[in-house]
Amino acid sequence: MDVAIVGGGIGGLATALTLHQLGIGCTVYESVRKIEPLGLGINLQPYCVRELFQLGLEDRVRDLGIPARGLAYYTRRGQHVLTEKLGTEAGFDWPQFHMHRGAFHAMLADEVRRRLGDDALKLGHRLDRIERAGGKTVAHLVDRDTGEALDPVSPGVLIGADGVHSTVRAHFYPDERPPHWNRVIMWRGATDDVRILDGRTMVVAGTYRQKFVAYQVKKPPAGRGPGEPDIMLNWICELIVPEGTDYREEDWNRSGSMDDFAGAFVDWKFD
Ligand SMILES: Cc1cc2nc3c(=O)[nH]c(=O)nc-3n(C[C@H](O)[C@H](O)[C@H](O)COP(=O)(O)OP(=O)(O)OC[C@H]3O[C@@H](n4cnc5c(N)ncnc54)[C@H](O)[C@@H]3O)c2cc1C
Repeated sequence: MDVAIVGGGIGGLATALTLHQLGIGCTVYESVRKIEPLGLGINLQPYCVRELFQLGLEDRVRDLGIPARGLAYYTRRGQHVLTEKLGTEAGFDWPQFHMHRGAFHAMLADEVRRRLGDDALKLGHRLDRIERAGGKTVAHLVDRDTGEALDPVSPGVLIGADGVHSTVRAHFYPDERPPHWNRVIMWRGATDDVRILDGRTMVVAGTYRQKFVAYQVKKPPAGRGPGEPDIMLNWICELIVPEGTDYREEDWNRSGSMDDFAGAFVDWKFD
């Protein structure tokens, strides 16, 4: 059986590694032309870490991640409410890790190439549409940059791992409306060499209307200059914006402006 996976994000690449471990051949078709260390902090929960360890990635995950110890809640004035334990501290058999999403994604891509071969990850291949013909599924692919048609593929199984605006899902549910936006906007940033609490605890301050989240992550090796600190503080300022706010489709890579959110947090002063 041959399998085509559409989308080489974290889901698609982890699926490819799992299929390979089961002895099932697969190819990943990813729209972007280059895998870059995008994003900031991500939390790998114990049940996800278990899968990664079973894939033989324990050393690489430990190398990239900071094992989480706790999740500490504070009020908007910095008063401590409660600290929950996380990962092995909470009794799980596997740790939870704070990690740089881009470094994690790059590691998975590297493992897919190393184990399955360079040809198993086809970059610049965007799924344009799916067709059912003669009992077969045909995936029509285009070059992401030029829009030029590429050779169609007709796999035994096609797996959609192409994110929240999935072309695969749209094929099966053509009348489905776009995801409903809850008016939450998160501004993400990173600050060099700042340590909070014990370095392994995530801080969540405020309420669901206005929140500040912070935890430390290791910098991706690719983006670290010589002599630079290898730890940075990943932080998120989260606001519910008013109804009718001019909303542009979400994007993990759009630059934000401090003017858009810093005013709302100006009196949040913690020790
Ligand atoms: C650039 C980026 C940065 C992110 N940063 C963070 C972060 O800092 N912190 C955090 O917690 N989460 C972040 N996320 C979200 C998180 O990685 C994902 O929500 C989660 O891992 C789910 O992964 P996924 O593989 O299902 O989807 P995604 O990570 O969204 O991956 C989907 C992949 O499919 C590809 N794709 C889409 N359409 C097509 C198509 N038609 N044909 C071929 N390929 C297609 C996309 O290019 C993408 O690589 C980020 C996601 C992205 C894409």
